[in-house]
Amino acid sequence: MVEIPAPPFERYAEGRHFHRLLLLYLRELKGAGEPVGFHQYLLVGLLNVHAPASGGAGDRPPGCSACSVRYPCRTVLAAVSDSYFPVPWTAVAVGGCLLDAGVLDPEYDTVQPGRLVWGRKVRQSATWSASGRWRWQSDAGGREYYTDEQLAGLLLIETARGRYPYHFVSDEIEDEVAALRPAAAERLTTWERGLGTPVWREERRFGVPRQRGAPPR
Ligand SMILES: [Zn+2]
Repeated sequence: MVEIPAPPFERYAEGRHFHRLLLLYLRELKGAGEPVGFHQYLLVGLLNVHAPASGGAGDRPPGCSACSVRYPCRTVLAAVSDSYFPVPWTAVAVGGCLLDAGVLDPEYDTVQPGRLVWGRKVRQSATWSASGRWRWQSDAGGREYYTDEQLAGLLLIETARGRYPYHFVSDEIEDEVAALRPAAAERLTTWERGLGTPVWREERRFGVPRQRGAPPR
């Protein structure tokens, strides 16, 4: 049985396994049989820039290939968060990972068993209660009880993700769109044309969940 390893990773192989499963999971988020689209191609290319690096020491914690932090960095954590990649970690483990990635600040935020504090504009805190749940509250007035799994998800999505990605921009300006449209159309035409070449057909095959027994597409 394959299990998603949960950060923090002590060895490079664990980080590499995590990264591989994340990419496979993102692939599965396509519609069944849907080939890789241009945005997916860009997403995976970006994530691979932030793949784990061994630094020549496979028995040490992996670093990010692009950032000077332990793997996974904030870019990977944002993809984990927004895709709801089901990592079996605890809220405290998420907090430790956010400290490692520099998303939380050890001088300002608190990550310890039974106690989590985070947030800049609005401070939020969670304390483990005798009820077997986290008692969460925010300076904005919210109060709630969460399971550990729920708090782990809340902590991650409120800190690691970027700005809400949809719409791409909130104040669309027609002149700007008009200026970019020709180049984008040309790029898409090139992309579609390239998909017909043998090399791309083979590459794209890896993005298509194959029907059992069906030949690769
Ligand atoms: Zn990175």
